[in-house]
Amino acid sequence: MVVRGFFGGTFDPIHDGHTQALTALTQCIAVDQWHLLPAAVPPHRAQPAASAQHRLAMVDIVCQQHAGWIADDWELQQQGPSYTANTLQQRRQQFPQDALLFVIGMDSLLSLDSWYNWQQLTELAHLVVLPRPGYSIRTMSATIEAFVTAHRCQANDLQRSRHGGVWLADIPQFDVSATAIRKQLAQRQFANLPLQAGVIDYIRQQQLYQNL
Ligand code: ATP
Repeated sequence: MVVRGFFGGTFDPIHDGHTQALTALTQCIAVDQWHLLPAAVPPHRAQPAASAQHRLAMVDIVCQQHAGWIADDWELQQQGPSYTANTLQQRRQQFPQDALLFVIGMDSLLSLDSWYNWQQLTELAHLVVLPRPGYSIRTMSATIEAFVTAHRCQANDLQRSRHGGVWLADIPQFDVSATAIRKQLAQRQFANLPLQAGVIDYIRQQQLYQNL
């Protein structure tokens, strides 16, 4: 079965936490294509600091360095907010026979029940949850715990069915956040940033995040 992975986010900017996590996942599961999906207007978040066009451009720079990764502008083409359930519904129609994975961080899992039509997500795709420093499964609400218990699966199961599982990915944690990176950039500190070199060059050329 073809396996397609989707990784949605603000990507403001895309950082090594995102890329290292996807690389680690690729060592556990055979994903044919990764779609990196910048969100247009993330419903639960403050507005991004960089425009949609810049965030997509940075995702594209990273994808060019990784075979099988594509910058997917579908959410940016839609009117209004980006809802994952809507995106996955569209993808399910487009790829009816494939296994679909949707990747989220542990921080996102803990507040998943605030997402639009969140219980529909596993009817459309598998959820793959990345561990993240500072966010523990032990602090799940009773609602999320019941959901995870009902759907929990192992890595191998993701390639055997098209949707329905929640895999708590057994990969290392990467202590990187876009918020910390934006703070560093606002102070014009360009050394030791957990960003791909091409992304740093782009940020410098476009003078992003430097007047926050
Ligand atoms: P911000 O600091 O602006 O909130 P972020 O670093 O969380 O941003 P996003 O683009 O919002 O980055 O993240 C997209 C997805 O990737 C989310 O599901 C988030 O939980 C997850 N994610 C981001 N960074 C990490 C990380 N270091 N480890 C695990 N998951 C992560």
